[in-house]
Amino acid sequence: MAYRFDTRAIHAGQPDDSATGAVTTPIYQTSTFRQTEPGVNRGFCYSRTDHPTRRALEENLAALENARHGLAFASGMSAIHNVLSLLNAGDHVVSTQDLYGGAWRIFTKVFARFGITFTFVDTTSTAAVERALKPETKLLWLETPSNPLLKVTDIAACAAIARAWGIRTVVDNTFATPVLQQPLELGADIVIHSTTKYINGHSDVLGGAVLLNDDALHSELKFLQNAIGAVPGPQDCFLILRGIKTLGLRVERHCSSAELLARWLVAQPSVRRVYYPGFVDDPSHAIARQQMTRFGAIVSFELEADLDETRAFTRRPHLWTLAESLGGVKSLFCHPASMTHASVEPEVRRGVGISDSLIRLSVGLEDVRDLIDDLDQALRRTRAAGAERVA
Ligand SMILES: *Cc1c(COP(=O)(O)O)cnc(C)c1O
Repeated sequence: MAYRFDTRAIHAGQPDDSATGAVTTPIYQTSTFRQTEPGVNRGFCYSRTDHPTRRALEENLAALENARHGLAFASGMSAIHNVLSLLNAGDHVVSTQDLYGGAWRIFTKVFARFGITFTFVDTTSTAAVERALKPETKLLWLETPSNPLLKVTDIAACAAIARAWGIRTVVDNTFATPVLQQPLELGADIVIHSTTKYINGHSDVLGGAVLLNDDALHSELKFLQNAIGAVPGPQDCFLILRGIKTLGLRVERHCSSAELLARWLVAQPSVRRVYYPGFVDDPSHAIARQQMTRFGAIVSFELEADLDETRAFTRRPHLWTLAESLGGVKSLFCHPASMTHASVEPEVRRGVGISDSLIRLSVGLEDVRDLIDDLDQALRRTRAAGAERVA
């Protein structure tokens, strides 16, 4: 029987433990497994290759994206590394331009050294995507909603273009989560996640995932997972499996609070612009409505302030924590220009629209009234400081 999302989140890959009947998947804290004779084992031989707690997580993650196959990694970056390792010198990748800073860094500072080239385009324009494709292009890399400007790319349209060229489409689905968006159903070939974010959801573990349907491609990626070796340990797999049990519930509340907060922010005098695809006048709204069930819980805004005043603002919230990362129960905020996107050269950063006065919010699960009150006092103090300087 095909269960629905919240049921799969709790059950997929996690039958009661066959040895003991334990209701919850055990943490098999072991690096290796007994062989009865050389090469004969009970399905596991060495924990880098395959591991029971990790296998439970991999099956569970696959079920969340309606995928045939799942692979788990030690971090989102190691998931990205694994997928890029499909490429050879001379290959070319077309990517969303305002993407996660760490993805930009591994593209341009690591894989570029091995003769792989990258073109960054505004993938919200299918014409721009089409123009960037070359005979050597092997991957179309999409991040949607994008980070930190929350631009939404039409996955189905882009994947159709890529398919016509024989190019694989990869979607980083970290921001949307499989609750809101299922890229494989829209024609993508590979979905990646930083499970560090919403999927685990409690800011207490790092993890990554690769989900896909194609059997041959899965074999290649599984070979690379074992060959490269950036696999998660059993404790981390357990924590992520635990987090996933409430993923559906958490994401609904995250989205509801973000919506209230975004509407409140636009009415604030010291806020120049709010980036949130849930606004009907947002350029991404129509496509977001079409491919996502809700609009996510990341909200970015520009302060009416220069760099120094923006940095001063970051010292004022009490409840919001200034930190990298997102998607956890605790609300976090960051200053992309000097934090998440500091590794992107200033000209490139400004070119894609990440200004020095941009703040990115990851709306957590606290009472949204407390979250608003705290931002309110921080913005009031910023205005007061500005008024003092003018006087
Ligand atoms: C955090 C993040 C990553 C990297 O994941 P880590 O778990 O930090 O290695 C990749 N993509 C997106 C969109 C992210 O937010």
